[in-house]
Amino acid sequence: MIKCDINRIEDKIKTFSTFGDDKNGGITRYALSKEDELARTYFKTRMESIGAEVVFDDYANMYAILKGSDSLHKKIVMASHCDSVLNGGNYDGILGVICAMEVLETIKKENIPHKHDVVAMIWTNEEGSLYPPAIMVSGMLCKKYLPENIASNYDEDKMFSSKDILTNKTTFKEALDKFKYKGEYKNRLNPHDYLAMFEAHIEQGPILETSGNDIGVVRCVLGMVNYSIIVEGQANHAGTTPMKYRKDALLTLSKILVELHNKIDELKIDDLVYTNGQICVKPNVHTVIPSYAEIMIDVRHIDHVVLKRVADIINSFDGLKLDGCLVKTKLNWSRDTTYFDPRLVNFVKSSADELGYKNQFINSGAGHDAQFASYMLPTTMIFAPSKNGRSHCDEEYTSLDHCHKLATTLLHAVLKTDKDF
Ligand SMILES: [Zn+2]
Repeated sequence: MIKCDINRIEDKIKTFSTFGDDKNGGITRYALSKEDELARTYFKTRMESIGAEVVFDDYANMYAILKGSDSLHKKIVMASHCDSVLNGGNYDGILGVICAMEVLETIKKENIPHKHDVVAMIWTNEEGSLYPPAIMVSGMLCKKYLPENIASNYDEDKMFSSKDILTNKTTFKEALDKFKYKGEYKNRLNPHDYLAMFEAHIEQGPILETSGNDIGVVRCVLGMVNYSIIVEGQANHAGTTPMKYRKDALLTLSKILVELHNKIDELKIDDLVYTNGQICVKPNVHTVIPSYAEIMIDVRHIDHVVLKRVADIINSFDGLKLDGCLVKTKLNWSRDTTYFDPRLVNFVKSSADELGYKNQFINSGAGHDAQFASYMLPTTMIFAPSKNGRSHCDEEYTSLDHCHKLATTLLHAVLKTDKDF
């Protein structure tokens, strides 16, 4: 079976790692930054050199289109993102772009016949690390196909007014309007011109490495709910208020947090993950007893019944009065488990099997553009192992051999789609 070129893949990984090099082994490449522009320019130049036509849409998503033999057919697209978090790695997102480019280069070099146009695509602002939220542009672009509980989070006016978190000055819209690769609405990914979408990505977790597998055949992106638990107490002087008269919101919240974890753990549910990663304390002054404490809880699981059971536990704290404080809970947002197209999942599975790559079915715990695209057109994802399960850090690493296997699996899954979908 035809394979992608490992040296060409290495060359692309090395070159992209120079755009936003943080000199610590990783990169900082925010969406719509100078570094993002450099990465896009390299993508454009390299894709045009093999005869692909490169166009951009009004969200600055980029598309390199390699013409198929029959212009009546819809296009097959392989997409990921090239922006990163602060001090992110050289693989998250960009490896999917590199694999897509490599598939086009292999098709061209090996003269592989294909009926459909095959497209390598870059999504703008997946990470949302400078202009929150994450998965912003695919959220806007796919909005009318999304369920209402998700769509309502991606209102264009609100997204466009998202401000640069570093300076709090430039909005996403202002940065987009100035960006070199802002193009036209008519070029947007859409279900009339596009048949299917693939996203190759690193796993960002330890499952493939632990099991010794080369390829993850992704079946779904896990459903998630995000709640706030808010405790209202009373601000007072740290030196003059005796302990027994205090209504300390943070102390009360910490007691609730321990009880919450105990109750959720008592459910003993496999594969359930939940995280309290963000906290807000007011007034957050070292001489004042906290009057307000809020912690977020992010819960992920494939089964909505399980998510509901955890939500019930969270909500059981709502209205509770403890140590003179009042507890409230609030749903911030929720997403259903997104199942990928079973026919495309099968193409990935049979490609990996035929290539002799050790593989397994896997679920994605992280969110991706593919999850929103899947509401619009048949979509799926393919994972490669992440060393030590690390991601969003300088140490993020996927071996060249695994990158090569990821690109080659993608190539064959696309060719099967071209033939049989
Ligand atoms: Zn990513």
